[in-house]
Amino acid sequence: MMNKKKLELYIHIPFCAKKCAYCDFLSFPGNVQMQREYMEQLGEEIRLQAASCSEYQVVSIFIGGGTPSILSASDILELMETLKGSFTISPEAEITMEANPGTVKLDSLKDYRAAGINRISLGLQSADDTELGYLGRIHTFDEFLKTYQRVRMAGFSNVNVDLISAIPGQTLDSWKNTLKKVTMLKPEHISAYSLIVEEGTPYYDRYGAHVELSDDCLTSEERRRLMALPELPDEDTEREMYYLTQTLLAEQGYERYEISNYSRPGFECAHNIGYWTGTEYLGLGLGSSSYIDGCRFHNTPDFREYTTAHLDQEEDFQKCLRQEFETLTREERMEEYMFLGLRLMRGVSALGFITRFGQSIRSVYGSILDQLAADGLLEYVSGYYRLTERGIDLSNYVMSKFLLN
Ligand code: SF4
Repeated sequence: MMNKKKLELYIHIPFCAKKCAYCDFLSFPGNVQMQREYMEQLGEEIRLQAASCSEYQVVSIFIGGGTPSILSASDILELMETLKGSFTISPEAEITMEANPGTVKLDSLKDYRAAGINRISLGLQSADDTELGYLGRIHTFDEFLKTYQRVRMAGFSNVNVDLISAIPGQTLDSWKNTLKKVTMLKPEHISAYSLIVEEGTPYYDRYGAHVELSDDCLTSEERRRLMALPELPDEDTEREMYYLTQTLLAEQGYERYEISNYSRPGFECAHNIGYWTGTEYLGLGLGSSSYIDGCRFHNTPDFREYTTAHLDQEEDFQKCLRQEFETLTREERMEEYMFLGLRLMRGVSALGFITRFGQSIRSVYGSILDQLAADGLLEYVSGYYRLTERGIDLSNYVMSKFLLN
């Protein structure tokens, strides 16, 4: 047990009550029959994948989606039992489940907790009901408050709230209002991302570079509403929102530990930190990605292919669960270690680098580190190389400097 390697698990539950207008995640509404088929196959996948993970100890689990809380509590309990029966899970493992307001009852939350889930991540996005409507969310702020209260009543002492800034029609004041209302509740963790208009979403039809309504599944009424949405905040306002997030959350006792993630001391998300520091991870469920033994691969994103595959047969297993399999070169692993580590405010550990690669970070990146430091984009503090504020602003440029080929 002592020498087992660390492994993180990500479990994908692709079902949502309704698709949000900005969402490009692999998620969709699914009826009870689809959910049943999916959960059965997921159980089968967990048992089969775990068989080749005996040298690992699971240090964190993230049940994400989609909306995992849309499943029945018994589905989640069964999932947890399968995981416990298949993997060696550390007693200290952080086990997070995503939940959306309006989809969770108090009894279910108590069941989740009894099953070992010890962290809940709530998707709020905005405290303004008009903005929630623009996003196509299914809940109001009031419904979020009720859900948040239930989460606390069920005994969860580690809660994240997801927020999005730069929503259509959003002003600096309304973003400030969202931050204030959320910090008053004192969640342990807040994720605050800027809206990105992703290709393939209704938002892309409305706000993308080439506005052209695609032949998607929107009704004419939905299209009319989409085109009537207000403009996105301009770049300057978006910038101001970004800086406001940092100052307001710092004033309220939240430490920014990653570009878009804030927590009270000691409540950083262990699962995300593991990801950003190169811990191996196994993705289970539709479309989920894995990084094991220096190899990257992902599961099929095709629901029918996934649910009908005979995973106990080698051919189906490989076809369904080892897509785009690639072995990273040593250089690619170093690049990835830098890209991910620099997202953390503390930066990349010089000791961590030498432990992992058997050579010092300076022997690989010495001249680049010196040049970026001279340009005021990077600094060395207590054994870590980290981005300065200016470096974060120019992060695409900085990251490009760490490419080795
Ligand atoms: S709830 Fe989340 S995963 Fe589901 S459609 Fe909305 S943004 Fe996407």
